Amino acid sequence: MKVTSFARNATAVATLLVAGLAACGGGSDNEPAPTAPPVATNPPPETPVDPLAKAPAEVRTTWFGISNWHYQAGDLGFILDGEVVNSGRTPTPAAVTKALEALKLRGSVDFFLVGHEHGDHALQIPEYAKQTGKPIYAPANVCKAVVAYGNPEGQCVTINGGETLKMNDFVTVRVVRWLHSLDCDQIGTGSEGVETFGFLITVQTPQKEKLLSIYASDSGAGGQDLFIPRVVAKGTASEKTYGAPFTNLANAVSEANIENIDLWQGGPESRVVNQARVLMPAFKMKYFQPHHLGTRATSVDGVSVGFKLEYGLHFPYLPSEVPKLTAFMATEGVEAQNPLNYFDAWVLNKDSYRTADNANVKAVYGLPATGPGPGKQGPNPRSGQLECTND
Ligand SMILES: [Zn+2]
Repeated sequence: MKVTSFARNATAVATLLVAGLAACGGGSDNEPAPTAPPVATNPPPETPVDPLAKAPAEVRTTWFGISNWHYQAGDLGFILDGEVVNSGRTPTPAAVTKALEALKLRGSVDFFLVGHEHGDHALQIPEYAKQTGKPIYAPANVCKAVVAYGNPEGQCVTINGGETLKMNDFVTVRVVRWLHSLDCDQIGTGSEGVETFGFLITVQTPQKEKLLSIYASDSGAGGQDLFIPRVVAKGTASEKTYGAPFTNLANAVSEANIENIDLWQGGPESRVVNQARVLMPAFKMKYFQPHHLGTRATSVDGVSVGFKLEYGLHFPYLPSEVPKLTAFMATEGVEAQNPLNYFDAWVLNKDSYRTADNANVKAVYGLPATGPGPGKQGPNPRSGQLECTND
């Protein structure tokens, strides 16, 4: 077809050229200069439009404390949780403005995902909604707070798990009903904790067969709890049973048509090893990032220091404090990318997950271009409890 069409066009052009030459023959000097031969008006040969021509080849991730992440895939940017104050009972508008302005130096903020309603995850969400006007995808209680704050009802979409959010031609978020963390040696029945969600993010790259994938969960328990169906509002008229967390994630992975999960950003900061033992082999994970760091206060030179983005991460996350997880990842061949400070950034592409420069964003908060600081770090306040004896 293409050859035929090209040949026909070539003939048409040749005919026009011949006509043009004939008009020039033997004209006097007074005649106006011959005009250029008319241009063929036939459309050019059809070239198929590559639907993946504008697909992003990478995802940029930025961690800004606790379970706060910013993701940028091409021209689409979004935030998970975004709790930048972690104290008080109402949002702090100036802190939200500062975070948005800093993050926008390296991307955009087009929507928000919220894993669960606790204050260290969702307190600022109503203010983010107000300042940006962008959609929020969140548990029911967070949406209630968004509306009560004066935002339009339609701005917050209540999630229940199982939703597929196709955010543009290349980026899809699948909502996974997950579970909240449990204490040492506690085994759940399926009804403990607030409604908690993880998000399976997939990004189509220019290579048709390659999707980048991230599973971000801002809390969680592991072991057998991943296989117990979740029961919401137990004992009330609105009691409802949902699938088990593992099944929910497996379904999302299957629907996404991916063979593995490239990166798991797993929370909470403690007992992650229980989830890791199930998830890492089941989903052939390549990279792991702990988060939910910095929530709790620590002691530095006898003074209590808590979460403050301008101070920097006030205690380090040390692999030696999670020896079981560290050993397990070594046997699984999973590579850890541990945050060192707030606004650390990375880039995930088909070949790697590597740190990326984010100095200009860090500078907004007075943070050094790399590494911890400017505040002095104390010991991890949960040192010795990041893994329990029976984990
Ligand atoms: Zn939390």
